[in-house]
Amino acid sequence: MSGVFSRSSGAGEIASIDYLLAKKALLREYKAGRIARNELCDAHPELIRAARAIGALAGEICEVCGEGGIVHVSYAFGPKLPPHGRCIAGSDELARLRSTVSEFTCYVVEVCPECNWNYLVRQF
Ligand SMILES: [Zn+2]
Repeated sequence: MSGVFSRSSGAGEIASIDYLLAKKALLREYKAGRIARNELCDAHPELIRAARAIGALAGEICEVCGEGGIVHVSYAFGPKLPPHGRCIAGSDELARLRSTVSEFTCYVVEVCPECNWNYLVRQF
């Protein structure tokens, strides 16, 4: 895996495939009864609040509870950003961040506001 993140183009896509496979494995464990629901659905209240306020609907139904609509929340972390990261409300804000902060990593978390399922899906 080393070297993947040092490339600027395409690295995010490669990473997202890894996250997707890990997520599928996790959900398989859950459906087989080897992982308790409260171990998966432990989203921080702050994350749920962000999901409801600024999250982007992913158009998918939560695979854990089968009821909630999955929402994507983006966070940026970097040396010049707050230690708990900064929520990114949309592509406009991402563009603004790119122009003001040179170094940051963006994480996209999928959240189900119904059952508190949360999972890191992408990093770029
Ligand atoms: Zn759910």
